[in-house]
Amino acid sequence: MANVNLIVGAGFSGATMARKLAEELNEKVIVIDAKSHIGGNSYDYRDNNGIMIHKYGSHIFHTNLENVWQFMSRFTKFNTYMHKVIAIIDGIETTIPFNFRTLYDVFPETLAKRLEEKLLANFEYNKKIPILEFQKQDDKDLKFLANYVYEKVFLHYTTKQWGVNPNEVDGAVTARVPVYISCDERYFQDKYQGIPLNGYTEVIKEMLNHPNIELRLNTKFEDIKESYDRLFYTGPIDEYFGYKFGELPYRSVNFKMEEYDMPYYQSNACVNYPCNYDFTRIHEYKYYLNDYSEKTVIAKEYSEFFERGKNERYYPIPNNESAKLYSKYKEEADKLSNVYFLGRLGDYKYYDMDKAINRALELFEEVKNA
Ligand SMILES: Cc1cc2nc3c(=O)[nH]c(=O)nc-3n(C[C@H](O)[C@H](O)[C@H](O)COP(=O)(O)OP(=O)(O)OC[C@H]3O[C@@H](n4cnc5c(N)ncnc54)[C@H](O)[C@@H]3O)c2cc1C
Repeated sequence: MANVNLIVGAGFSGATMARKLAEELNEKVIVIDAKSHIGGNSYDYRDNNGIMIHKYGSHIFHTNLENVWQFMSRFTKFNTYMHKVIAIIDGIETTIPFNFRTLYDVFPETLAKRLEEKLLANFEYNKKIPILEFQKQDDKDLKFLANYVYEKVFLHYTTKQWGVNPNEVDGAVTARVPVYISCDERYFQDKYQGIPLNGYTEVIKEMLNHPNIELRLNTKFEDIKESYDRLFYTGPIDEYFGYKFGELPYRSVNFKMEEYDMPYYQSNACVNYPCNYDFTRIHEYKYYLNDYSEKTVIAKEYSEFFERGKNERYYPIPNNESAKLYSKYKEEADKLSNVYFLGRLGDYKYYDMDKAINRALELFEEVKNA
């Protein structure tokens, strides 16, 4: 008889694995999720105004991975949305990462021109230089620029987002704040970018739409009494092991939604406030699919530490301590047979959607060939 697979979690990791097992191995798959909806962190829904809301924050699909793009494209068409992030710096609207156009927005033209020439003379065009590396400058003008970007874009935003002094934040995170030697104002440069035309929840619904897949919502792992041959666990790895080595730390996010009787609230889907207010950014969701409504809905994003029972896990906090703790759980996981951990919570790793899908596709190949 064919194997029975249990998949914990109906986000992109779980749904990708479910589809592959059901379709290519013709095996039975039970997908459960503790939540009342599929989609995990990528869940979206249309509200009363017809606006597609990203419940857990703005999600923009972008990838250079051909296999992932092909896989996703089986379940949806995409629009050609290319993400830009506007930041308000000293009251001036400009785009980040800091690029050549930003120079001309925030500085007088003569200074902007001088900085542009020095950047071109010292760095390769189209390269992104992480801010902490960019700070290692001797030239007086470039040092001025480095300090400006550090102070106005990096310092306060990073402190708000991670809740610690920026020196304590891992290099992988600080690399996300670069100076971009380019006129390209987009946030991502990937070959494929866009938003699924009917939203992410519909994509996952389509992935799970297979006769071998049974979906059970409002169902926790501990509710499952029946037997299965393989377990794919996309929930938190520390929770699976009863937190026996301690809890893995996460940052959480609180989205405060507001509705306005006006067509648009701001000039862009995502506006960052690196220097002002306690929230980090404001999302205005109707931009993603160009939804028509006379009203608009925004979400102000406040970062906070994750506390069990109080809020959701969002970003793993990468540092030496959490890496050591994770490796203890990983060692335990490796001792189990036919139990596989994947996804952002199972691997304790920040994955963009394409990387989460790719990880599931790669794991499927391993399992198939085992
Ligand atoms: C604020 C934010 C913004 C993001 N923006 C982007 C973006 O713009 N572009 C991009 O590509 N990526 C983005 N991401 C990343 C994206 O959300 C992840 O790549 C994606 O959610 C990973 O999917 P997953 O299936 O691994 O995990 P999840 O989506 O978290 O799914 C895990 C599921 O498991 C369920 N679960 C956990 N434990 C149990 C249990 N014991 N029993 C039953 N069910 C359980 C959970 O309820 C959840 O539904 C963003 C992430 C965050 C936090």
